Amino acid sequence: MKICVLPGDGIGPEITAQAVRVLKALDLKFEMEEALLGGCAVDATGSPFPEATQKAALDADAVLLGAVGGPKWDVLPREQRPERGLLGIRKLLGLFANLRPAVLYPELANASTLKPEVVSGLDILILRELTGDIYFGQPRGIETREVEGVQQRVGVNTMIYSENEIRRIGRMAFEAARKRSRKVCSVDKMNVLETTQLWRDVMNELAPEYPDVELTHMLVDNAAMQLVRAPKQFDVMVTGNMFGDILSDEASMLTGSIGMLPSASLNETGKGLYEPCHGSAPDIAGKGVANPLATILSVAMMLRYTFGMEAEAQRIESSVKKVLAQGFRTGDIYEPGTKKVGTAEMGDSVLAAL
Ligand code: NAD
Repeated sequence: MKICVLPGDGIGPEITAQAVRVLKALDLKFEMEEALLGGCAVDATGSPFPEATQKAALDADAVLLGAVGGPKWDVLPREQRPERGLLGIRKLLGLFANLRPAVLYPELANASTLKPEVVSGLDILILRELTGDIYFGQPRGIETREVEGVQQRVGVNTMIYSENEIRRIGRMAFEAARKRSRKVCSVDKMNVLETTQLWRDVMNELAPEYPDVELTHMLVDNAAMQLVRAPKQFDVMVTGNMFGDILSDEASMLTGSIGMLPSASLNETGKGLYEPCHGSAPDIAGKGVANPLATILSVAMMLRYTFGMEAEAQRIESSVKKVLAQGFRTGDIYEPGTKKVGTAEMGDSVLAAL
C-alpha cells in the first residue's frame, strides 16, 4: 500500500503534515513517498510536474495532495504554472471521476448562508465525470464564417460522450451509493441535448444490475434549484463534466466551510488522487492557522475508495465529528463560544479522538 504525498504550495505542507500524522496513527503499514508538485516543483526543477514526481505518482496506489499555486507563480507562462501540474497528474493517472462530498456537520450549521434547518446534517456526494463532455469534444475553437449572410466570428464547442464513458462513471455512482443510502440521482438535460439523452439511456440500462439502488433522473436546471431549495433530498448525484463542475461548486458552498471539504479523483483501477476542495490559501500560508480537516477527511476517502478500508475511514470521520462536538475550531469555522485552535492543535485533537 503505497501513498505518494504531494504537499504542494501555500498552506499545502501544513495541512498535509496533519493528514500524514493521522495516517501514521492508524498504524496500517503504508509506504509513503513525498514528491514535488506545483510552484515548489517549479522553483526546484523548472517544471510544475517533474519526472521524479510522475514516477512516484505512477508507482503509488494513491496520491495525497495539499494544494498548489500562489501569486508568486501567476506571472509565469501558462505551461509553467503550478496548475499545469494538477492537470498533468490527472491526465497521467487517467482520473475520470471526481467525487465531492458536501457534508454539513450539525455543529457548523451556522457557517452556511442557508437556513440551518435546510442544511444541518446535509450529506451528499456528487460524482462529476472529468475527462469528457464539452470541455474536450472536437471540433472546438473560434472561427470566422458566414452566418445569416454575415461574415462573423463563431465560437464552437462540441458536447460528446461515448456510452462506455457514461457507463464507467455510472457504475461508480451505483457502487458509491451502495456504501451510502442507496439512492442515485442522475442529472442531465435530455429535453434539449441528445448527448444527455444517451446519458439517461445508459444510466437506465445499468439500473437492473443494481436492484438494491434507487435511480432517479433530474434535469440540470431543476437540480440547481433543488440543491438550494431542499438539498437533503439527495444522496449520490452523478453527472457530466460541465454540469458537475457547476453543481459541485454550488453544493460545496451550501456548507459554507471550504476548509472542511475533501475530494477524490479516481481512475478505472481504483487508484486515486485525494485532496481538499480548497486552494493553497496564500493569505494565511505559514501562519499555522489553516484548517487541516478537509485534508484529513480526504485521507478517509482514500481509505474508503482506494484501499477498501471502510471501518478505518469511518474512524477518521467519527474523530472529526467528535472534535467538532468538543468545540475545537480553526479560524475559518470559529464562532464565539467555541475553542479557537491552530493547524497543529487541530491535528492533535483529531489524533486524541482517534
Ligand atoms: P483558496 O481556496 O486558496 O482560498 C480562498 C479563501 O479560503 C481564502 O481566504 C483562504 O484563506 C480560505 N481558505 C482556504 N482553505 C482554507 C483552510 N484550509 N483553512 C482556512 N481557510 C482556508 O482559493 P483562492 O484564494 O482562489 O486561490 C489561491 C491559490 O490556490 C491560487 O493560486 C489558486 O490557483 C490555487 N488553487 C489550487 C487548487 C488546488 O490545488 N486544487 C484549488 C483551488 C485554487
